[in-house]
Amino acid sequence: AALYNVDGWGAPYFFVNDDGDVAVRPHGAATLPGQEIDLAKVVAKAAGPRAGGGLGLPLPLLVRFPDVLRHRVETLNAAFDYAVRSTGYGSRYQGVYPVKCNQDRYVVEDIVEFGEPFRFGLEAGSKPELLLAMSCLVARGNPDALLVCNGYKDDGYVSLALMARTMGLNTVIVLEQEEELDVVVEASRRLGVRPVVGMRAKLRTKHAGHFGSTSGEKGKFGLNATQILSVVTKLKAIGMLDCLQLLHFHIGSQIPTTALLSDGVGEAAQIYCELARLGADMRVIDVGGGLGVDYDGTHSAQTDMSVAYSLEEYAVAVVAAVGRVCDRKGVQHPIVCSESGRALVSHHSVLVFEAFSATAPGQLDAATAYLLDELTDDCRADYRNVMAAAVRGDYDTCGLYADQLKRRSAEQFKEGVLGLEHLAAVDAFCEIVARGMGAPEAPRTYHINLSVFTSLPDMWAIGQQFPIIPIQRLQERPAVDGVLSDLTCDSDGKVCEFIGGRHSLPLHELPTHATRGYYLGMFLGGAYQEALGGLHNLFGGPSVVRVTQSDGPHCFAVTRAAAGPSCADVLRAMQHEPEVMFEVLKQRTDDATAASLARAFGAMPYLVFDPEAAVMSSGESSGMSSDSEG
Ligand code: PLP
Repeated sequence: AALYNVDGWGAPYFFVNDDGDVAVRPHGAATLPGQEIDLAKVVAKAAGPRAGGGLGLPLPLLVRFPDVLRHRVETLNAAFDYAVRSTGYGSRYQGVYPVKCNQDRYVVEDIVEFGEPFRFGLEAGSKPELLLAMSCLVARGNPDALLVCNGYKDDGYVSLALMARTMGLNTVIVLEQEEELDVVVEASRRLGVRPVVGMRAKLRTKHAGHFGSTSGEKGKFGLNATQILSVVTKLKAIGMLDCLQLLHFHIGSQIPTTALLSDGVGEAAQIYCELARLGADMRVIDVGGGLGVDYDGTHSAQTDMSVAYSLEEYAVAVVAAVGRVCDRKGVQHPIVCSESGRALVSHHSVLVFEAFSATAPGQLDAATAYLLDELTDDCRADYRNVMAAAVRGDYDTCGLYADQLKRRSAEQFKEGVLGLEHLAAVDAFCEIVARGMGAPEAPRTYHINLSVFTSLPDMWAIGQQFPIIPIQRLQERPAVDGVLSDLTCDSDGKVCEFIGGRHSLPLHELPTHATRGYYLGMFLGGAYQEALGGLHNLFGGPSVVRVTQSDGPHCFAVTRAAAGPSCADVLRAMQHEPEVMFEVLKQRTDDATAASLARAFGAMPYLVFDPEAAVMSSGESSGMSSDSEG
């Protein structure tokens, strides 16, 4: 656990149990002894053969823990409650979940349901997001819950948001551009619905990290001081200034320190008070997202991978800054809203994938060593010089001759003088010599049954790091350092940077017997990755299981299970017609081959190590535990 700093980034949800497996405390620190869920057992249940009681789901596998989601929602609300009480704040917190972080139906439904006692709402940034937010809030939301409508808006978007008001939803249309005001006024007149309007302010406060490009005067979004005043003037002129009730801003994701946060919130609170002074019916200050996640467990503001505050400290900084400014200006304390996404959903899922092979270290046995004697005269001279320097312990000279030998043998291979076996023998010899001289073994490449582009898009796109560790054998010291290489034929499809500034990951030797896999988990990836992931090489998403804590023998129940998209599904996403393709191919084959072909269309695109296990089509579920949700 210490090697991977599990306690740093994993607490209070992930730890290493006495079996050396990663285990999950589904209720955080409130999890009772015996309620912990062993992740390796979840994988055995989900991916194990059906004949043995498993669900036969192909890997990769996304394991969702709704209990963790509940705990996040409750903890966030408790932190703000504490902040309100401890600072004597005169109003309350009422957050929204920005669905862009993870639009999965069950994630959104869970958050709305778990957030109902706290009047927790949703934020949408597009028409489909608004539609899902509306239906979810109507079905299970608290009537007071806010529905914050951000993003670029056309008449269709604004009309939908106004319809949501007629359905009794507490909808606020947040102007991101000054021009949107005309669209809102026009649509509200046409539909006869009085809108509640918010404004997104472009703050001067700037967050310097990667995620801060949305902030500052040159940020992409929001209204500057002139535009804010112009909106106020226009609303006043048409007798709608009372519709302006919310001020929103977003400094950027992963706000590094509470000092920066207080600065931004203080600036926004000044604008809020000015709007109140100018006659708007101000009620809510929406501080946007930015509540950070400690991906590397360092609890520091040095990199984008961590933040230097706790949830409680974040909440106190926000509430105190708003209260301070409002008190100075004699303005009533507003409801504080946050759009915390990353902090809410990152911890709730774990992506499990398998390392199925690894490059072997260079080997030179008696059967291949003679090849070195067959080298050309100059290469053999280099080889003898390497050996002589090695015997003398002259590492520098040894390395120079080894490099020369490699270079020369490669040139001679290109000229057709040396064969492939000779080239391989030289490589192995040089590697062994380097190891003998005490050079660290080059990291081995572990091949993983995953697409980085589909499942870890932020990793290759913006260099984001997530904790990746083996989920078993953690009582055994890893013997190897490895990097991870995915299934796509793309050189970016690899993981070579790991938390803690490492360029390789301590890993165990792969099991030699075929029956047991070597599973790795990618943690804290519950935000953004699922929707951002693409279909490079037509690898689709993972299989998904939903696992809740239960009183059963292993403390968990799989309440939902679905195999990931099949080859047919991903082909359809690119406008191919698998049924037609199948008919075309079938004409060139017999019945038995056609049946295999049909199975190939129905299977997931990933490697299958247990053919008996993995033939479910997308969305199908089977073998659920007795308390299945169906
Ligand atoms: N609100 C807005 C307007 C955003 O742009 C974002 C994301 O960048 C969020 C909320 C969520 O931010 P976070 O995931 O950092 O909480």
